[in-house]
Amino acid sequence: MSRTPITVLALGGNAILQRNQKGTFEEQYENVRSTTAQIASLVNDGFRIVIVHGNGPQIGATVIRHELGQTMVPPLPLHACGAETQGFLGYIIQQSLRDELARLESRRAVATIITQVVVDKSDPAFKHPSKPIGPFYTKEQRDTLLRDRSDLVIEEDSGRGYRRFVPSPDPKAVVEDEAIRVLVDDEAVVIACGGGGIPVIRQGTHLQGVEAVIDKDLAAERLATSIHAESLVILTDVEGVYLDYGRPDQRLLSKISSSELEIHAQKGYFAKGSMGPKVEAAIRFLRNGGKRAVIANLGDLGGAIKGSAGTQVRN
Ligand code: ADP
Ligand code: MG
Repeated sequence: MSRTPITVLALGGNAILQRNQKGTFEEQYENVRSTTAQIASLVNDGFRIVIVHGNGPQIGATVIRHELGQTMVPPLPLHACGAETQGFLGYIIQQSLRDELARLESRRAVATIITQVVVDKSDPAFKHPSKPIGPFYTKEQRDTLLRDRSDLVIEEDSGRGYRRFVPSPDPKAVVEDEAIRVLVDDEAVVIACGGGGIPVIRQGTHLQGVEAVIDKDLAAERLATSIHAESLVILTDVEGVYLDYGRPDQRLLSKISSSELEIHAQKGYFAKGSMGPKVEAAIRFLRNGGKRAVIANLGDLGGAIKGSAGTQVRN
């Protein structure tokens, strides 16, 4: 059996839903299909691939469904909503990837693993919920919600209304990493750690879901490191990592060492909720034994893998 290197691909939000779209099933399926067509050709070339994807808009929509449906069925906690999005998104990715592989007459298996990611219950993030999720509320709606659930944190979000904020703790370990490794060793294409994984804490010998969300790029690093992937490829909606991003003199970093990238990060070049975690994931991956991290545009997947597109980071 061939032992081609493993690549973990982290797909950004735009791989599933573009910013101007509403979020119908058909829109999401169509976006996923164009991404999986690119991935299928890599798989057909012999690459061993694990796919991690985001779930920002989808978990927001799922929370709305649970809240509005609560006069008929009880709403589920946030970690269970995360599991629902892993199932739904895993389903459309695995169906369309299978179809594309069948078209290429490839016999590689495709499987989604519902994935839990361990976080530390004393992570300072639990004291500072920073990630807005779900719908916008009026002040009255907020007051009603807080009467029933005093544990929720609902605050003003950039002048657009009130929104629920949840903690975003640092991922420590992927619970299902061994199962994923076995599948990858057997040449299956695996979809895992969707939405950054379902956040769980260890309670003695038990695992318990918590009300939080995990950054998908940082979770992808944990998975890539633990299954000894050679490359971590983070695909998003910009060409790569820029210095002075958004200014007329912005510069794309095309090839860079992780220590140089770390110096730029310390200077605060990369925005906290967006490029920051991608750069941090790349630096951690190389520090933990990875050979190469790439941050590139979704449309440049082939070039990103070959080394000719995006920001290519090595030690
Ligand atoms: P994803 O869904 O792929 O994780 P994000 O929105 O979280 O997407 O991150 C990508 C965004 O990061 C880009 O669209 C860009 O607006 C933003 N960004 C912030 N700082 C930078 C930077 N220094 N270089 C490139 N993009 C940056
Ligand atoms: Mg992001």
